[in-house]
Amino acid sequence: MTPARHYLDANATEPLRPEARAAMLRALDVPGNPSSVHNEGRAARRVLEDAREAIAARFGAPAANLVFTSGATEANALVRHALGGTRRVIASAVEHDSILAARPAALLPVDRKGVADLDALAALSADGEPALVCLMLANNETGVIQPVAQAAALCQRFGAWLHVDAVQAGGRIPVSLSTLGADSLAISSHKLGGPAGVGAVLFGSKAIGPAPLIPGGGQERGWRAGTPPLPAIAGFAAAAEAARGSPHLAEMRDRIEAAAIAAGASVAGAGAERLPNTTCLVQPDVPAMAQVMALDLAGIAVSAGAACSSGKVASSHVLAAMGLGPLAGCGIRVSLPWNAAEADAEAFAAAYPAMVARLRRAMVRAA
Ligand code: PLP
Repeated sequence: MTPARHYLDANATEPLRPEARAAMLRALDVPGNPSSVHNEGRAARRVLEDAREAIAARFGAPAANLVFTSGATEANALVRHALGGTRRVIASAVEHDSILAARPAALLPVDRKGVADLDALAALSADGEPALVCLMLANNETGVIQPVAQAAALCQRFGAWLHVDAVQAGGRIPVSLSTLGADSLAISSHKLGGPAGVGAVLFGSKAIGPAPLIPGGGQERGWRAGTPPLPAIAGFAAAAEAARGSPHLAEMRDRIEAAAIAAGASVAGAGAERLPNTTCLVQPDVPAMAQVMALDLAGIAVSAGAACSSGKVASSHVLAAMGLGPLAGCGIRVSLPWNAAEADAEAFAAAYPAMVARLRRAMVRAA
């Protein structure tokens, strides 16, 4: 009999929702290209625009202000491309690599709980130079929620553009570009339970012209050329409709945390407002990658830091920014998917103390 598996790595990618699968299968049978004027093209255009409307409404922006991309990496890059040339980029130190890779001019520090320092943001913005501020809504490694609405008020005061990476918050907590007061928002389908390979930028009321990373046929109102992937976009929209928050996961997360704390772990970001599905467990002296591999052998899928950097054994830049020092290499991320069951939390609670004891014994023998 195959041993049971417990998938607790939703922040890397959520399992596909049945609504998304069904919408994709329907869209696969729509033969037209949305740019064609004939009947089939118009039918394809309807699928595309219905999806645009559903996703935009879900995340508090007008449909005309949504640009489909290949995912949030591209969505973040597109905003930087459109604004980064004329504005100084200020990003929080705990942003995703898709924001940090292009080296912001200034990094906003975070406190021990992982919350961005808004006094530092005010000080950096006050010099009058136009800025593009990048602040994520929820951190992918710790689930810590940032004070985005307060940051938006500051940005408005100083004439800065606020871009919010809402990838991990979307579908898990309420997310609305207009309520947050942000200027742009990045979201990703596969973090909502849709397919990978599609995402979007939503723009607020400040008009900026198209500044495509991929020029060509003028699709997406000139923002992104290329024939849009209708089945993926339809799946994205269905997932966005179906993902209506996950407060029920908080109890399972708390159960997991209690077991880990009893086995010597601490929770990164404890005391801050956090996503209900995410916890980052720091076990002193036990390398994160060894923990991930040992848990995998026990049937449990978790990750060390961000998924895109798994495989690289470097310590987490998020935990380092929170001042964890050498402990930054000892944190694992447990992220419950939308369809997590009690059995998953129970399996983790049983496996974690055994894993820690085994690794500690092995470390003593090796010393
Ligand atoms: N931003 C955050 C916070 C993420 O967690 C991720 C993916 O892990 C991304 C951006 C990139 O998203 P995508 O996989 O759609 O490119």
